Amino acid sequence: MTPVIEAVPEEIYDIELEHSLLEANAKIARANRTLLDEHGITAVDVMGAIGSGKTTLITRLVERLKNWIGVAVFNGDATVANDTELIASQGVPVVQIATVNGCHLDANLVDKALKKIDLKGIDLILIENIGNLICPAEFPLGSRSRMVVVSVTEGPWMVKKHPHMFLGSDVVVINKTDLADAMGVDVEQLVRDVHTLKPSIHVVRASCKTGEGLDEIAALLAPQKASRDA
Ligand code: MG
Ligand code: ZN
Repeated sequence: MTPVIEAVPEEIYDIELEHSLLEANAKIARANRTLLDEHGITAVDVMGAIGSGKTTLITRLVERLKNWIGVAVFNGDATVANDTELIASQGVPVVQIATVNGCHLDANLVDKALKKIDLKGIDLILIENIGNLICPAEFPLGSRSRMVVVSVTEGPWMVKKHPHMFLGSDVVVINKTDLADAMGVDVEQLVRDVHTLKPSIHVVRASCKTGEGLDEIAALLAPQKASRDA
């Protein structure tokens, strides 16, 4: 007898719901992008697992950039209460975004955050996404660039395990390189893994401890200013 698979109505409904959710998100993301472009603002969606070092990296980048350009930070991943305060202590506008789902930021939340700050004088917004390497990839926010932070402490398979996250990004930071030897992780293999997936990704080897790579990332995020100063 030929096996028959019958669609369950709830399942169809779920798929349609998800599709329309992603469509609605993409539409708001386009509107966010238009608004940002009108103000000459570059937004960067900073993604990466919990513990990859996103908050510390953002803090170091803000330190480097805030006297050059107008920087703001949206923090969607305040894993400890003082994450937001740490960044706010830099004297730049910070908006903390609390999600209901706890697993990704969406364009609607970013739209609301954009309404909380004065966009005049802002050149760059760093958006710290939630520490999750799965669904943030599906929810564009309207950013011009998507950066994935992957730390050597996450082991040697992070890139191979999460291809979608890397395929959708244009900058990858291999973070905590100072711990690579202790972790037995080959940084150059991670770089090769990224480039095997997508050769055009700009990969930066970085450490917030030694300072490796931080100026390079800062220059990538503020290219106009960097070239003006060069
Ligand atoms: Mg964080
Ligand atoms: Zn999610």
